Amino acid sequence: MRGYFTLPGTYSCIPCKHCGARPVIAIVDDGEYVVKCPTDASHYQTHPGLIDIDDWNEHNSKPVNSPADVSPGILNDHFFQLNGAIVSADNAD
Ligand SMILES: [Zn+2]
Repeated sequence: MRGYFTLPGTYSCIPCKHCGARPVIAIVDDGEYVVKCPTDASHYQTHPGLIDIDDWNEHNSKPVNSPADVSPGILNDHFFQLNGAIVSADNAD
């Protein structure tokens, strides 16, 4: 049976961006490890190999279920600018 290691507290890893779980290290093959979410296998896991906390952190640093992300704001500003330009042109004619 394949085992899991919990990460020592000295590792500065961020929680799973999907469910907030603290990642675990799983052995996938002899001498190969993945850093993965203990809750759901479909959540992000690193490629098999060395324990790559940096890769885990990088892929979990952007929350997916946060409605207050910066992207919608940028899009809204863009649409407002486009609408404003179109309305102004119509009024000018
Ligand atoms: Zn997760």
